[in-house]
Amino acid sequence: MAESAPPRRRPTSAAMRVVWVIVAFLGGGLVGLFLVLPRTRWLRPRRVLACDLCQRRHRRLLVAMVVLALLSVSGFGLRVSQRARQLPACVADTSIAEGRRVIDPRAPKRPPLWSTVRSVMTAPVSGLALAFAQAPGRGLCSVGDPPITLAFVPQAAGHMGSMVGEVFMASPVPRINPIRARDLAQHESRHVDQWAVCSIVGGIALLPVLYLVDNTLYPGSENHFEQAAGLFDGAYPPPPNPPKGPQGWAIALWVGVLLVITRRRIRWTVRTVLSPDRAPDIGRCGVHTTGWR
Ligand SMILES: [Zn+2]
Ligand SMILES: [Zn+2]
Repeated sequence: MAESAPPRRRPTSAAMRVVWVIVAFLGGGLVGLFLVLPRTRWLRPRRVLACDLCQRRHRRLLVAMVVLALLSVSGFGLRVSQRARQLPACVADTSIAEGRRVIDPRAPKRPPLWSTVRSVMTAPVSGLALAFAQAPGRGLCSVGDPPITLAFVPQAAGHMGSMVGEVFMASPVPRINPIRARDLAQHESRHVDQWAVCSIVGGIALLPVLYLVDNTLYPGSENHFEQAAGLFDGAYPPPPNPPKGPQGWAIALWVGVLLVITRRRIRWTVRTVLSPDRAPDIGRCGVHTTGWR
């Protein structure tokens, strides 16, 4: 009868709820809002207030959101401070750093509003990427419209580079011909869109997680993010025929992860079906009550 137990914790005050709205969105985007907000008031407040384990879980979630939000804010700050001092343009055949040459790739024109939105939404990861790229003292330059920042970091052999937010962590490729460079810029610009959308939906961590999951299931040219950004433009070979994905081991892995995450809900569902009259343990909600029947 945990539902009728008196709450041992005061509901979150209105002012704190505003703070948590901001922290949750900065840390986890719309998903962050969805995870944090209901527990501060509306959806299942009594369950959270009455169950010790729910409260502990909620506190852990808040700590994770604060950490992610702090990362976002510091990344945003780094990006803004870098924007403030104008970067040199990556012009054709200009040596940028350590004698490397880059031919000006042009990103496709975007509607200005989306261009601004995506700059703002990708600023946290862009800032973190710049902090990483600048640690070894590499050169930076700005290219395209809307501009992409080029940073030079050692890459795996044969890999052109990766887009992190609006920053292209470029391999020190000595020369790319102008047409290839333009195709590549278009491909990378589509990755910026993906970063921006994912940051709105799930904060700075969503795209890396989704990309990793997708890449284990559908490796290389079968990766859906790369396909959406354009395989040919990104210098990816056409997908193999017959396709390699989804890979069996990756399905097993992610189903296993999903089962571990949802194990208490599964137990709760099984018990609700087997013994619908069973009351939850004292100080616990139904989900956190032990026993399968
Ligand atoms: Zn609980
Ligand atoms: Zn790509």
